[in-house]
Amino acid sequence: MAQASGMLGNGSKAVKVHHLIKAPENTPESVRRRESWDATEPATVYKTPEIMPDGTHCTAATVIFRTRGCVWWWKSGCTFCGYFNDVRDDVTAEDLFAQWEEAKRRLDDFEGCSMVKVYTSGTFFEDRENPPEWQDVILRETHERGLHLVVEAQAQMCTPEKIAWVAERHPGCTVAIGLEAYDDTVLRFHVNKGFSTKQWHRSVEMLKDNNLRVKTYLIFKPPFMSEGDALRLTTKWVTEVAPYSDDISVNPMNIQRRTVVDRLYRNREYRPPWLWSLVDMLEITHADTTGANARMIVHPTAGGKLRGAHNCGKCDEDVVAAIERYSVSADLRELEGLDCDCKQVWRVEIDNDLTLPVPLGTGSDRRGLPTDLLRAP
Ligand code: SF4
Ligand SMILES: [Zn+2]
Repeated sequence: MAQASGMLGNGSKAVKVHHLIKAPENTPESVRRRESWDATEPATVYKTPEIMPDGTHCTAATVIFRTRGCVWWWKSGCTFCGYFNDVRDDVTAEDLFAQWEEAKRRLDDFEGCSMVKVYTSGTFFEDRENPPEWQDVILRETHERGLHLVVEAQAQMCTPEKIAWVAERHPGCTVAIGLEAYDDTVLRFHVNKGFSTKQWHRSVEMLKDNNLRVKTYLIFKPPFMSEGDALRLTTKWVTEVAPYSDDISVNPMNIQRRTVVDRLYRNREYRPPWLWSLVDMLEITHADTTGANARMIVHPTAGGKLRGAHNCGKCDEDVVAAIERYSVSADLRELEGLDCDCKQVWRVEIDNDLTLPVPLGTGSDRRGLPTDLLRAP
């Protein structure tokens, strides 16, 4: 009890449920660390090669803002989401405008870019998260400058009025929704997503009605799921959401600090997905995604590292590169000829996961020789 009250801070009354259920994240030290940044500067800006809605190659600018964060996270939050590390309660409209100016300065005023991704660690057009006057400027300015805009949203934040409001200011922009799993049980018990597949369908309809583009994020291997189930289910979900999506981005789990998944990982109860599973998924779903005209994107964040999707350590670089190439070309030949001794270990794990009654999987939680792993602290 003494330890618990220590985790809760200085003894003053907790004002949000969140302060109780996410106690370690709310220790004075965690809050101090998280809030040590300057609110007038964006978290990150960078440029990457991308593909425009018409299929042409382009350069995209990504701006990750420091915001008040996701309304859902402040209430509860998804099990893998570490975005709270970039957010805090007191960000003002002035701060957000200053961040936009600073982003443009660092990106040479979008020189050479045809696309801008504006990420806010939550829902871009949610008024409790981001001031409407700021949303208005971002939407109009990017549209007037002929820049294709990508923003992110939670499904239940999409209302007919708000989507129409967005479409009026930036016709044809892309709205990315973190569906994560096309399965209500997984959404509820593995992801803690805060919305259902029914709500997702409703939001997709609203976006289509307003001629906006739909990007669907799926997570590969949420917690409390074996590798075999992750492969079996995600493959099925990709096929099922393809007819409703312009882009599908499958995000292999990467372990972000201080999240539920991080705690499982540190407890040796979770291993991020194998890169071989991603290759298998791309091969199985290729015909369905191309048939539905949905672009398939997989960028393994921290690919090859222990906290990202990885194989044995020897073949990772080649496999990550092939997956990245496939995301640009949608050509299955990118995945041809990949091989390594570890592929057999992965195959056995998948087969066992799908035949033995071990819900959390049969694989090892870390890569390496079993004898070395036994000796590890
Ligand atoms: S809805 Fe998005 S931003 Fe909010 S907690 Fe979930 S993953 Fe994080
Ligand atoms: Zn290997």
